[in-house]
Amino acid sequence: MTHEGFCYNVMLGPVGCYLYREPWASTLDCDVLALRLRGLLPSIHVEVRGPFIAHQLSSLAPDERKRCLEELALGFATAKVHSPLRPDLNTTPLPGEISYERRRLEEGSKVFGLFYDGFELMRLLSGLIPNRERSLRHIHVVFTNQLFGTWEDDDRRYHARVSLYGFPSLVSTTGLVEAPAKPREFYFLKQQYLALGMADAADAGLKREFRGRVLEHGDERLTEVLLGYVLQAVFHQLWGEPFCDDPGCRLYNAHWQEEVLQAQIGGGYELCPRHMEMLE
Ligand SMILES: [Zn+2]
Repeated sequence: MTHEGFCYNVMLGPVGCYLYREPWASTLDCDVLALRLRGLLPSIHVEVRGPFIAHQLSSLAPDERKRCLEELALGFATAKVHSPLRPDLNTTPLPGEISYERRRLEEGSKVFGLFYDGFELMRLLSGLIPNRERSLRHIHVVFTNQLFGTWEDDDRRYHARVSLYGFPSLVSTTGLVEAPAKPREFYFLKQQYLALGMADAADAGLKREFRGRVLEHGDERLTEVLLGYVLQAVFHQLWGEPFCDDPGCRLYNAHWQEEVLQAQIGGGYELCPRHMEMLE
């Protein structure tokens, strides 16, 4: 069923998917992602937008915008994870932490070395989405260089994540490099460097040894790899099922770097037959 050329789900109505740029990810090309997405889902309206917060604040009056920035600065400072072994958030952030976040928001500068609670980030960003786009017909995919994670009760610690699907869906370009585990030999070799007192040489040595087998910051394969994460966000919202068991399908829930590369680049096909059929 179609409506004005858009995908029309009987329950949801026409569907729009918005990709929000992350300017700090120089090898992430959202226009290419949008083209590929339109190719796979021609009936969905795909739109590339500027960075999420700047985009949402741009329509506000100056006073409202200032108030919103203050709230966001406090929200980000609170969402910061201080210890990966403790589930409690930073409920009483220091003035310096809040002003760091305010400055970062105003200048659009890069986040270095901080780790945030993913669900708190999602809650914070969700509040910025205007009413007209607050429904399941609207798929918001926010790319961010912020590293975030989720608390897992099983082993009582935070785990870094590449993505978190919800409203909006979050995809971390830093998380893609940091969260999925590297090959076991990587950690073994790193230990050897450290045992020999060669910590300085470790980074360059490991990079040389594992070139191509792990994703690096500024990796040229970033756009290709992240297409699968956008598809997971779309499947999550439209079918409530973001993942697949087929290691060659882009919806495979990879926990290792080599699994990420296999699913996104080495699979030889975009989606497994079952998921391709769902798209069609
Ligand atoms: Zn599949």
